[in-house]
Order: sequence, then structure tokens, then C-alpha cells
Amino acid sequence: PVLFGAARRNARGWDLSDQRDLDEIDAARAPFREACFKAAPLIAGKVTGAAPYAAKNPARPTDHVGEVTFSTPEDVDTALAAAKPWAANVATRAEVLNRAADLYEAHFGEIFAILGREAGKSQLDAVGELREAVDFLRYYALQAQNLAAPARGIFTCISPWNFPLAIFTGQIAGALAAGNGVLAKPAEQTPLIAHLATRLLHEAGVPRDALQLLPGDGATVGAALTSDPRVNGVAFTGSTETALVIRRAMAQHLNPGTPLIAETGGLNAMIVDSTALPEQAVRDVLASSFQSAGQRCSALRCLYVQEDIAQEFRAMLFGAMDELRLGDPWALYTDVGPVIDAQARDQISAYIESARAQGRVLHELATPDTGFFVPPVVLSVSGIKELEREVFGPVLHLATFKAADLDRVIADVNATGYGLTFGLHTRIDSRVQHVVERIRVGNTYVNRNQIGAIVGSQPFGGEGLSGTGPKAGGPHYLTRFTREEAQAVQD
Ligand code: GLU
Repeated sequence: PVLFGAARRNARGWDLSDQRDLDEIDAARAPFREACFKAAPLIAGKVTGAAPYAAKNPARPTDHVGEVTFSTPEDVDTALAAAKPWAANVATRAEVLNRAADLYEAHFGEIFAILGREAGKSQLDAVGELREAVDFLRYYALQAQNLAAPARGIFTCISPWNFPLAIFTGQIAGALAAGNGVLAKPAEQTPLIAHLATRLLHEAGVPRDALQLLPGDGATVGAALTSDPRVNGVAFTGSTETALVIRRAMAQHLNPGTPLIAETGGLNAMIVDSTALPEQAVRDVLASSFQSAGQRCSALRCLYVQEDIAQEFRAMLFGAMDELRLGDPWALYTDVGPVIDAQARDQISAYIESARAQGRVLHELATPDTGFFVPPVVLSVSGIKELEREVFGPVLHLATFKAADLDRVIADVNATGYGLTFGLHTRIDSRVQHVVERIRVGNTYVNRNQIGAIVGSQPFGGEGLSGTGPKAGGPHYLTRFTREEAQAVQD
């Protein structure tokens, strides 16, 4: 079988500290600065479509990013009736997915522009997101060639706004690589990038009845696509609560064996002990908690710093935080962009205000005047037990611990019920061993940040409240999209 590290072309990279790369990005994005994009259902049949509305830029609400037409219940029904598994042989499927990867790379300017304007992605995030999408296409194209088992049929793929290209593409590529047909419902906040990606996949050669796009909301489109018996499997990334809603709908309406592949929330911790390299740990805490404005399920939520170094470490962390540049992600140097929409901003802000009322705000940045921004903030807590739920924004909770209490910290982290990412900064090898053996999460990162899992080398996904597995970008992912069969023939 093809395992990790088998021959596969890496996605193209851009070095954002190199002026030539910045100039190239700027020139390629320029034609799309004012462009009005479009999203509408892409189905193998007649589209009826709901009344179109204007998509807004979360950093600049006056920027009219696109015209969006949501799918109606009739559109969903038309798509379900037209949906077909992808009949091409595996070599052809792999070739088409690889061609799609090349097309994605060729359209980098347009993709970066939409990711910035529709999803508020910083340029660093946009580069990472395009690379992850391309890696998913190439990795699953390669993996598919080892699959002996047949496709299940038709998959519903429901993807989130925080990785509107990478996760959108990863789910679809997984299902298609295995030979399924796909009904894709992108998050209602990010249909424009999904529409472009679907057009590129079609252009590469994915048949229109094997990949249909149904932009819309969860209540209309998501609910219909997870409760119709014509669906043979569901891939979902989003909140733990929505995963439960989907599971209930599937249990009620679909065959009991219909798989749900869910990648959900996290309540992720990091431990920094007194032997850690402080500069490195500060850099990795900032990236883990504030990159993508904290809107990653992998993001660091609760940092434990060993008591002995806590005071110095705090000072360094807050000083470094003050250097973060908040603002419109169209500026290539922006570190932290907006949160996705007004509702997200209001919810996160209300949470911060209640912490402020309790005197728990330790440090925070100033907010830009316009747009849906939440300034990065650090709140004091006694430990992860105080965190009742995932707050999906740039909010870091800071606790201290005594060396003798390390096992209690580990127990508290495990007791959250989530199990997605975990970070550890220490120079003691035996401690790495000790912690890694005890902590129950899908992805552990030592002496680095805890976000941005790389397809193929860091398969991504958690356990418990964090998801079902198999891990995305890992060697077992495609098998969930297939049926296992055995044949015994005797003359
Ligand atoms: N795969 C992403 C990472 O490693 C997180 C995905 C998510 O937030 O859903 O940071």
C-alpha cells in the first residue's frame, strides 16, 4: 500500500517574507479586488433558486463581494434525483483530481481574493488553505489507487466556513476518489469560494451528476441532505451540536449502517513547563490561539504555564501580542482578520464582557472601527474545568500549574470530553513521553504550535466530542467512503 511519504507532488508554497512572492500575490489578486463573484446551485437539472442576496466582506461591510442564490427544497430534490456515483475507473478519477489540483494552483490569485474578502482570511491563512486543498486532492488521488473496495453511492458533504476551501475540497475529494457521487453543501457564510472550487472540479473532468453544489442553510438544505434515503453517507465538519442533530436525523431516516464522518469541536490545551524555550513557546502560543482569529477547531483555548516562570512568561506573551496587526486581510501584513460575521462577533464579545465583569481580562488589543472584529484577549482561569464550551474566536484562557500537579492537569484536560489537539513545550524527554502517553487527543504537538495539520504527515481529527474519525489526510480516511465486500467462488 501507499503509506505516508509516498511520491506525491507537494502543493506550491509562497514565502510571505519574500517581497517577490508578495508582489506576485498582489498582482494576481488585483483583478479581483472589486469583482462581484457569484454562487448558485450547480445541479444536473433545472435550478429554481431562492431570491439572491449580496455577500458581505466581514472586514469591510460596504464591500459587495458577491451575489448568492441559495438552493430551494425543489433544487435539493432535483439534485438527489440526478445524483450518480462516479463511474470512471480509479486511474481516471486520480488523473481528474490531480488536474483539479493544478487548476486550483493556477487560480491562486482569484482564490486568495475570495478567501480574504468572503471569509476574512489573512494571507498566511489563505496560502495554508490553498495548499491544504491541493494536498487533499493529490493525496486522496494517490490513496485511491490502493482501494480494493467499491464506493458506497452518494455522499452528502457539509463543510464549515472556517476552512471554506480546504475542508470543502477534502471531504469532496475523499468521497470522489473512492468513486462516490457528492452533494456538497458549503457553509452559508462561504458559498462563493465553494462555487469557484466546484467549477474547477467540473472543469478538471468531474461529471456534473457526480458533483453537485447546493448552497443554502442547515435547516433547509442540510436537513434534507441528511434525512433522504437516497443518501448513502455523510461527511460533516462543524460544531459538536450540529453533528448530534445530523446523527439524530440519520438515525431516524437512513439505514442504520449509513456512515457519518464528523469532525467537530475542541477544547484544546497547551502545557508550557519551566524548561521550555520561552521565545519559541510565546510564538507558538500566539499562532495557536490567535491565527485565523482563533477560528479553528484545533486552536489553543487553555494555556497552562508552570508557576515558576508564569510572571516572566506572561510579560513576554503580552508584549508579543501587542505586535499583532489586526485589520483588513487584504493588507498582506495583517496577522489577525475579522471573525466571520456579526453574530459571531456579538457572541464572542458577550463572553468577553462577562469575563470582564468578573475581573478576568488580563490583556487585550484594540479593535478596528469597522468590520466584525474581536480583539485578541487573554482571560485568567484556574484551569480548563472552568471552560464550559468552545468559544470560537481569539480568546485565550491562561492558568498556572505546579510541577507536582502535572497529572491533575492531564486528567482535567482529558475530562473535558473533547479530544482534538494538545500542545506541550518542554525540554525534558521523559516528560514528553509521560504526557503523550496519558493525554487523550487526536493530535499532539511538541515544541511547536498546535494548528495547521499537514495532509499526509499529520492526519487530523479527534475523539470523543471532537469527532468520529477516520482522520482527514490520513491513510484510513478513504475506507469510510467504501463498502467492504467479500466474495468466495468455488467451481
Ligand atoms: N485542520 C485544521 C488545523 O489543523 C483545523 C480544522 C478545523 O478547524 O476544522 O488547524
